[in-house]
Amino acid sequence: MLTKAPRGTSDLYGSAMEAWQGLEEKIRIQCAAYGFKEIRTPVFEHTELFQRGVGETTDIVQKEMYTFQDKKGRSLTLKPEGTAGVVRAYLEQKMYADTQPTKLFYFTPAFRYEKPQAGRMRQFHQFGVELFGSGEPAADAEVIALASQMLDRLGIRNVELQVNSLGGGACRQNYNRMLEGFLQEHREGLCETCRERMERNPLRVLDCKVPSCQEVMKDAPLIIDNLGPECREHFEKTLGLLDAMGIPYAVNPWIVRGLDYYTKTVFEFVSKEIGAQGTVCGGGRYDNLIQECGGDPTPAVGFGAGIERLLMTMEKSGAITHKAPGVDLYIAHMGPQAQAKAFALAQSLRGQDHHVETDLLGKSVKAQMKQANRLGARRSMVVGDTELAQGAAQVKDMETGAQETVAFDGLANYLMRQKSIEPGGN
Ligand code: ATP
Ligand code: MG
Repeated sequence: MLTKAPRGTSDLYGSAMEAWQGLEEKIRIQCAAYGFKEIRTPVFEHTELFQRGVGETTDIVQKEMYTFQDKKGRSLTLKPEGTAGVVRAYLEQKMYADTQPTKLFYFTPAFRYEKPQAGRMRQFHQFGVELFGSGEPAADAEVIALASQMLDRLGIRNVELQVNSLGGGACRQNYNRMLEGFLQEHREGLCETCRERMERNPLRVLDCKVPSCQEVMKDAPLIIDNLGPECREHFEKTLGLLDAMGIPYAVNPWIVRGLDYYTKTVFEFVSKEIGAQGTVCGGGRYDNLIQECGGDPTPAVGFGAGIERLLMTMEKSGAITHKAPGVDLYIAHMGPQAQAKAFALAQSLRGQDHHVETDLLGKSVKAQMKQANRLGARRSMVVGDTELAQGAAQVKDMETGAQETVAFDGLANYLMRQKSIEPGGN
């Protein structure tokens, strides 16, 4: 128990941590280019927020939430996704009063009680963006374009952008009735869950993974064929802008997304390389959510991407690069006075952003040099009585073996010069 993390969680360290940080850095650059600003919201929120914001009929709310009572008996929930908290903050902080649109991005852990398997965990992480205050197709296009360019920037190949429209308002209601009629007729062929959800949220039946349901649904009417003129125009304009940017896509009329709140455009980026859990990024327009959460009607569009799945896809695409360890100088030392000098030098060099290591294990000079090798240090030097007396030491290039005498007070300049002429120097 004590040495085993809970099921469906993982530790992040070592080279995976490096890959993660590389990914975050690239995504931050991407968001800056689009003018999206970072937001961090609490890891837990009032349970009602997710019941409202994610939707009572979703698997997330019905089965997957980590809900608990605090000591005062309030019901709180660890966030299962990123959007609801950002919407709450948008309203609470009155961001709608600023110049619109509001463009936000987040990195967050998310918690779902699911059956752990490859690409599916109980604590996972999401990167997402939300754009509030524009109902124009331009906003849908900008958000999809950001996702598309981000995947390019991460070196992810072999993902397909699939888009659909779920309509909104009147056409969605008409379609729901039509679909309900169809489902009533084919009730026999549907699984238990779908029979339950066909009245409350018929759209979700299209999403069912049970083969018999999929068989039945092949003949179901599709929302894309039943859009009203406004929703159709919105969809076509969105696609037109994607065309203009040269972003390839496929219309997939079966995409409905797992959450209740989507309207009009929905989309997914699907990887063909990471198995059954292939959706690396999914999102769409959700024009009713902000009102649902207690605000004035406000159009919104966004997406969420699973960071673990992005990294899995990057791995498959060979897009993960590892940085060299980058120790600039290893200072070995002999005796207490030399140690004091080594520490003083290291402290000053580190203050100037050089990565310096020195012995912490009380080892012999020979063992310290072995350690320098193991750490992959670019250079090393030994400080002993002679060096103390001279105020200088031999700096050795660990690759070539070449040595050069450098005065202690000239070390910072020396390192800076060496690093500036090194290929890939840091
Ligand atoms: P799926 O169909 O795979 O269950 P979802 O529709 O539940 O996904 P969203 O709620 O849209 O997923 O979450 C956004 C992204 O978060 C997904 O596209 C996926 O990359 C990632 N994701 C969702 N659930 C998990 C999980 N349990 N473990 C790891 N990543 C996840
Ligand atoms: Mg899911």
